This record gives sequence, structure tokens and C-alpha cells, in this order.
Amino acid sequence: MSEFDLSAKTGPYSCPACGGRMVFDPASQQLKCPYCGTLKPFQCARETPNEYDIRFPPPETDAAWIDETRVARCEECGAEFVETGETRVRICPFCGSKRMQESAAEAGIAPEGVIPFQLTRREAQERFNKWIRGHIFVCGAVKKQAAEGNLTGVYLPRWTYVDDAVSVYEGKAGRHYQGQIPYTVTDPDGKERTEKRSEQLTRWERVSRTLEQRFDDVMIPGSERLPQAMLNSVMPWKMSQLRRYVPEFIAGYACEKPVADVQAGWQEAQAMVDRRLAELAERDILSSADEAQVQRLETEHHNIRYRLTLVPMYLNAYTYHKKKRHVLINGQNGKVAGHAPISPLRIAAAVLLGLLILLGLFALFMSRGGSDYMFNDLSGLNRMLL
Ligand SMILES: [Zn+2]
Ligand SMILES: [Zn+2]
Repeated sequence: MSEFDLSAKTGPYSCPACGGRMVFDPASQQLKCPYCGTLKPFQCARETPNEYDIRFPPPETDAAWIDETRVARCEECGAEFVETGETRVRICPFCGSKRMQESAAEAGIAPEGVIPFQLTRREAQERFNKWIRGHIFVCGAVKKQAAEGNLTGVYLPRWTYVDDAVSVYEGKAGRHYQGQIPYTVTDPDGKERTEKRSEQLTRWERVSRTLEQRFDDVMIPGSERLPQAMLNSVMPWKMSQLRRYVPEFIAGYACEKPVADVQAGWQEAQAMVDRRLAELAERDILSSADEAQVQRLETEHHNIRYRLTLVPMYLNAYTYHKKKRHVLINGQNGKVAGHAPISPLRIAAAVLLGLLILLGLFALFMSRGGSDYMFNDLSGLNRMLL
């Protein structure tokens, strides 16, 4: 907690009891003083965060971070973080570097929504330790990270979109039927005759239909600093816990500045929606057919709305064999994913131990008269060979 200055006793983040800087506490969902444990509730609007029309930027008042902001940049990997209130990012959550610099960049558009941390740092650390225990051959470098408690809570930016899609598709619906296929048989006296066998065939007919579908909360990363496959494995986000952004939720946490803008995010979201619509069209044909082919699908997107949302993640970053490695823990559901490089030394030690046990068992077996049995068996083998 060295990043907090204890001298000032006033301000929204000052502890009323000791003047310490309060941070967001996932367990109570209030501000909590890390020094004396005092809790302080804060106001957060109950209604769902706003969504904005894709054709316009959000209104100035809604796009504000509310608290004064600064931007910190990692000199090592280039990641940028928005700092509010008294929070200072001292160690880059993405690469573990301590080379953080204040940047002149603007904080940019403020988030409208936030899924607040539900897991405390201690709970995240327990998940990390359990994950390590499940990887017995993992290298010492990761174990060291867990033992040293190198976890940082960071909010990641996500664009979410609502879209009313209307698609017209054309394709073919195939229905199975039993057909009679003629084939030629040659009798023993050389005469040919035609017989028929029953076989499953498909009758195709053209279909063309319109699909109307609303897509809610299609979520797209605002940056790509973490491997997507790893992120996917700690999904999904429970959107029922989405709250309207107020700066208290991010007090004491790093908050990544989005790299991708709202339009770039929409391009990605649209591709996802289009893939989903192709699946829906296929399923639509299959609802009254045995086989489906979608040949053309044209979609119009209406009423596209967007929102910037922050999602909570605990991160550990370390370098192994000159490569950046990560372990991440979903700050909402506690799922863990990460690189788990295997230590060849640990495997060699396990193999050696296995061999020693086998050797021990063999010695025990021999000392208990097993040798007689073996020679008897060998003599039996000799007899068979003779
Ligand atoms: Zn206090
Ligand atoms: Zn970095």
C-alpha cells in the first residue's frame, strides 16, 4: 500500500477514522481503509448503464471519468492505464515492469458500466495457489510468482453492443427419403438382370426466409494484451452484476485505457453477429428439414448502440525463457487460466523416483523367493521352445 499517501485527512477517499486512503473492497462492495478496516458506503445508481447510438459520441457529461484522471504508460510494453483519485500504477500488470511513466495522453472516453470486483485479492491468491497445486510439473518461476503474491487487480476495457439485425437468407433444405436404386446382377449362368435396393436419398428444395434477431451485450476487447484463448477460458461475465460507473469502483485498481475505438470494436462485433446469424439460418432450415445449406445471407443492422464497460481481472505477469507469460484470474467468477511451462528437471526427478520405487519393489520381490518362480517360469518357456 506504499502508493497511498497517508498525510492528507480530507477528500472523498480519506478514511474518516485514520485518514488513510480507502480502496474499493470486493467483499463489502464499499470503500475500505486498508490500514484500520473502516468501511464507507458510496452512492451508485441502480439503473442499467446507458447505451449510446453508434452514430454519435456519448454526451460530454456522460463521457466524464468524474474524478481527475492521469494516464500512466509502461515503458516496457507500451500499455496505458487511466489513474483516478489517489491510485498510482507502480507495476505494469501486463508485463511486470516497474518502468511506469506519467504520460501526457488524454484519458479518453469514460466507461459507462463496470462489473465490480467480487473476489478479494486474498481469494484470488487462494485460487492461484490451488491452480499451481493442480500443475505438479510447473516450473519454479511460476511457483515463485504465486509464493510472492504477485497479483494485480486490473479493470479491462470492453465494448459492448446492442444490435437489431434483420437478415434475409437463401439456401437449400434437404429432406431424406428412401429411394429404390437399380443395379445389375449376373446369374451363375451368365445372364444379367436388374434388381433394386433401398437407399436413403435427399430431396433438395430452395428456401428463402427473413430472420429478425436482437443481439444484446455483444462484448469485444478494447485491447489485445492478453491471449484471447486464455481470456475465453475464464468467461463468461455475469451481466446481472453490471453497475453504472462511479470512480469508487476502481479506487485502488489499475484501469487499462482502451486501444481500440468504438467503430473498430463494432467491426469485430458485427463479424461475430454475422457468424451467429449464419448458424441461426442453418438451424432455421434444420427445424423443418434433415440437411441445410445456407448460400446467401444479407443482414441489415439497426438501432446499433454501444457502451464502454470495465471488467475485473487479477493478473500475474512474469518472464520465462525471454517470453512474457501470464496467469489470470477472473475477478468476478474466480476462474483461473494461465501459461504453465513444464520443468524438465521436475519430470526427470519424477521419472527417477518412479524407477527407484520399481527397483525397490523388484528387490523386495526377489528377496521373498520370487527368483524361484522366475526360474520355474523360464524353464517352462524352455520346454515350450524345445
Ligand atoms: Zn483508516
Ligand atoms: Zn508493461
